[in-house]
Amino acid sequence: MTIVIFDLDGVLYRGNETIPEAATCVDTLRDRGIIIGYLTNNAGRTRESVVERLAEHGIDAKVIEVMTSAEATARYLTEKGFSGKRIYVIGGEGLTETLRRHGFVVDTEDVGDPCDFVVIGWDRGISFNKIARAQNEIMVNKAKFIASNKDAMFPADGGRVLPGAGAMVAAVEAASNTKAEVIGKPEIYSLKYLIDDLCGGSDISEKAVWVIGDRLDTDIACGNSFGAITVCVTTGITSREDAEKAERIFKPEYVIDSLSELPGLITC
Ligand SMILES: [Mg+2]
Repeated sequence: MTIVIFDLDGVLYRGNETIPEAATCVDTLRDRGIIIGYLTNNAGRTRESVVERLAEHGIDAKVIEVMTSAEATARYLTEKGFSGKRIYVIGGEGLTETLRRHGFVVDTEDVGDPCDFVVIGWDRGISFNKIARAQNEIMVNKAKFIASNKDAMFPADGGRVLPGAGAMVAAVEAASNTKAEVIGKPEIYSLKYLIDDLCGGSDISEKAVWVIGDRLDTDIACGNSFGAITVCVTTGITSREDAEKAERIFKPEYVIDSLSELPGLITC
């Protein structure tokens, strides 16, 4: 059994731009009986919405094949026995909706009852009041502080960059003098949950798992920490030069310039 896990942005598409060889690559691997999964640090979308987004780029996916850092955060808190707890959330609909579906009480108001957790994802509406509420939940009410992911920035159209969830987490970390516990990549929780979903809990050798990504500090570090075979594709944020000079857990086993090269690497 071989499992290939793709990161999304920078790998299967680039912002709003389709990467034409991505759909062909996924289809080729599926035809060979390889199991496909999609793993994203983006907490702003539900899994259903990720499936729609992939379909817009011609890529066929099922909800069970998709894992987001929002879904992983909800599962992590449930697994730890915190189901039903009250959470103050700074984040978009993907995060609030996912936490509600898993039975958590989600609070996004500037004022409210004390919360057990503060969970932060990407939030276009980040504000002084939101940072202040999170700060007080952590410092005064002793809420535990969780980050769906810590990606500091992401590429936008026209060569610009935009602040990622990590920038928002950093603001609350500074204000509360507390480090967040991170659930998304480079941690391996989300990868493990996805593999469980794809393989129904059967024992999988780490080397049967391939992790394909464009970021060394999240995708590649996550795959290497798990023990998977890692591939950096240079269609996203990392250049070939940077990928080749990376060290330790940041070093991918393979560097490719196009997903059209991937089926040739996976020889099983
Ligand atoms: Mg990416």
